[in-house]
Amino acid sequence: MSASATIASIKTHLADLGMPGSLEVVDSLMGKLDSGSLSPAEAIEHLLVAQIALRRERRLLSAMHSSRLPSIKRLDSFDFSFQPSIDRNQILSLHELTFIERKENVILLGPAGVGKTHLAISLAVAAAEKGKRVYFSTLSDLVLSLAAAEKQGRLREKLNFLKGPSLLVVDEIGYMPVTAGATNLFFQLVNARYERASTVLTSNKSFKEWGEVFGDPVAASAMLDRLLHHCHIVNIKGNSYRLREYPGLSLPQEQSSPRRRIRRKLQEVLP
Ligand code: ADP
Ligand code: MG
Repeated sequence: MSASATIASIKTHLADLGMPGSLEVVDSLMGKLDSGSLSPAEAIEHLLVAQIALRRERRLLSAMHSSRLPSIKRLDSFDFSFQPSIDRNQILSLHELTFIERKENVILLGPAGVGKTHLAISLAVAAAEKGKRVYFSTLSDLVLSLAAAEKQGRLREKLNFLKGPSLLVVDEIGYMPVTAGATNLFFQLVNARYERASTVLTSNKSFKEWGEVFGDPVAASAMLDRLLHHCHIVNIKGNSYRLREYPGLSLPQEQSSPRRRIRRKLQEVLP
């Protein structure tokens, strides 16, 4: 067979196998092989990588529709030097996603702007690219949708749906207080996913403060009991990336509420 007939045959095989990513790079790889700028082994590797890249892109695209990810963030755009309190190795190893196989959770804690949502999304993106089913929601949207389902008598169905994804991201625990009823619904979800599938949660509040966020310290501690049983905690202490151009400006994180400041002062002086 002549060289051009062989190349045509390779292209037919790739089309038959449903490998358009590889098909697209055949000509340019052949050119590089002819000019000697690629070794045969490298050419085979490039051929396969092109298909894998396309598959990753397609998976991510379809996940973007169903997962409700608010944006695409990746670890390669995360500047670790800006956030020295983060253990880079811990984050890199989480992105290998074995925690999903082990059905463990990840909780990202820290003040506003330190990259909690970025890292939660980059974990979800990595999982989606591997073909895992992911779903993203803020806590307030999640409890709203659970409450709406309950009202329509479809809570079981909703909980079953939310039980499905290999990775559920619950973002922004702590920005909005949750009512007792909503806390109960969220607790049912945590219970349904416990040891069955991984959840990534982000919060600007310490665990001690979750009792206040969920309006019920007992329910919050039962919830934390399950969430923390198999859990990786990433505690970020640092400045807001959003405000990096204003180094003199530090956000008053906890002191923003005068009432809370007074309560804290009282706690300090009371027996
Ligand atoms: P948080 O959820 O902790 O409030 P975000 O993850 O939303 O913070 O980060 C705020 C913005 O800053 C986002 O656009 C995010 O991509 C970006 N960002 C935060 N930290 C970093 C970082 N270390 N490197 C690069 N971008 C960052
Ligand atoms: Mg956030």
